[in-house]
Amino acid sequence: MSGNRETFDAVVVGSGPNGLSAAVALAQGGASVVVFEADDEIGGGTRTAELTLPGFRHDVCSAVHTTGILSPFFRSLPLEEHGLRWILPRASVAHPLDGQPAVMMWSSVEETAAGLGADSSGYLDLIAPFLDNGEGFFRDVLGPLGWPRHPGLFARFGLKGMWPATRFANWRFQQSRARALFAGCAGHSILPLDKMFTAALGLIFSIAGHVEPWPVAAGGSQAIPRALGSLLRQVGGQIRTGVRVTSPADLPAARVYLFDTSPDQLASIAGTALPSGYLRRLGRYRYGPGVFKLDWALDGPIPWSDPDCLEASTVHLGGTLEEIAAGEAAMFRGKHPERPYVLLCQQSQLDPSRAPDGKQTGYAYCHVPGGSTVDMTEAIEKQVERFAPGFKDRILARHTMNTHDFRRYNPNFVGGAITGGVADAFQLFTRPVARINPYTTPNPRVLICSASTPPGGGVHGMCGYHAAQSALNRIERFEPAPLTG
Ligand SMILES: Cc1cc2nc3c(=O)[nH]c(=O)nc-3n(C[C@H](O)[C@H](O)[C@H](O)COP(=O)(O)OP(=O)(O)OC[C@H]3O[C@@H](n4cnc5c(N)ncnc54)[C@H](O)[C@@H]3O)c2cc1C
Repeated sequence: MSGNRETFDAVVVGSGPNGLSAAVALAQGGASVVVFEADDEIGGGTRTAELTLPGFRHDVCSAVHTTGILSPFFRSLPLEEHGLRWILPRASVAHPLDGQPAVMMWSSVEETAAGLGADSSGYLDLIAPFLDNGEGFFRDVLGPLGWPRHPGLFARFGLKGMWPATRFANWRFQQSRARALFAGCAGHSILPLDKMFTAALGLIFSIAGHVEPWPVAAGGSQAIPRALGSLLRQVGGQIRTGVRVTSPADLPAARVYLFDTSPDQLASIAGTALPSGYLRRLGRYRYGPGVFKLDWALDGPIPWSDPDCLEASTVHLGGTLEEIAAGEAAMFRGKHPERPYVLLCQQSQLDPSRAPDGKQTGYAYCHVPGGSTVDMTEAIEKQVERFAPGFKDRILARHTMNTHDFRRYNPNFVGGAITGGVADAFQLFTRPVARINPYTTPNPRVLICSASTPPGGGVHGMCGYHAAQSALNRIERFEPAPLTG
């Protein structure tokens, strides 16, 4: 394989964690690679910026990197040498409840179980078997489709994870505290919690919290793409920012093209190189709900009624399982609940570099119907105030983003969808369309590598890594040529 300034073995469109991971894997495989990024900065959903006041550094999108720290591909790379440092919290999750101590997911499974009363042994029995080989378990969860390396463990997971989160939690736990903790984790699915397979997300996030507590990246999430970008350049790859690709004419000749884009952009950019049947199937892709997000510059820590909440990187606000399930179901039906399920992150509690001395940043979002322009500021702040009276008095400045702002910020966030599209039983493994190798398209030189492929949303780079392996398997079959059908 060879490349010069005008031709490459591989072109990657988009520099999110998946695009950069694909490029690194391709370069490691000996390919000459160039990445094109529309924004002036690489990173996609992993950038950090002063959104409110000078000195307050906010994660614009991803904040807490559960799948990042457990990603088999990231773990195989020397990212620390390129500036990435994970900061681990004492607790992954705090889940405040009205009039009682918050439910805490401490890094120790025993300590967590001790806070769950009658469900203590139930929680231990559920989680502990996965912890003997937690890293292996996540290799299977984030691995390529196919036979798992740990079939016993994976079967155990599948038999539990296949159920709706509500039914599973009600059957497995006797009391509201453990049920609420599980519902908060399952809520990351962005699906109604009475849908089949939503228990899987509850389990994955719970197990993860005891394998590696949900971390933040020192200095901000941007440290992740910067480390990947630096490594990519070290292994010979190139990155061109400020280039919004709209047609094949924007791209140099290459053997293969990988798209770290949403399916609709793959269709609009490479449509002339793809058959109409495949384009129709891409057109049927479901993106699902979006988010409304708030960032705050705060005068001090959030005054939680239960100060233990300050120990957690993530706080799930929404109360009981029933309340969270009802809110998420209403949201999925197109409504905006008065008391939404809110995901709040406390980066500056763990990483003082994020805010001036004595100050804090705050980050929270709730799910909203795709394309919503409803301002959820009051609803979100009321949920925080409910469990942290006096919170609003600490706000120095706020910054909001609705679904349209997210789409403008990153064309991959269609309708404000943040994880590459609905990840229900039908679309999780068939994203973007049902194919034996979902990263490939009917055009053997065109691949998709974004979160709209398995294993889906999150900052783990595994979609990019798997797509790159498929590309490397075929790259020698083609000469560099413009992108055509
Ligand atoms: C509010 C929010 C909170 C989140 N929280 C978390 C979290 O805490 N933890 C977590 O793991 N994940 C989180 N995520 C999800 C995570 O950010 C995404 O799943 C992840 O970034 C997807 O990576 P990607 O590489 O597939 O695409 P993206 O990160 O979306 O990157 C795609 C890149 O391609 C570029 N691009 C797109 N089209 C073109 C084009 N035509 N030409 C040139 N460049 C183009 C974009 O500008 C972008 O830089 C969150 C997302 C959001 C929005």
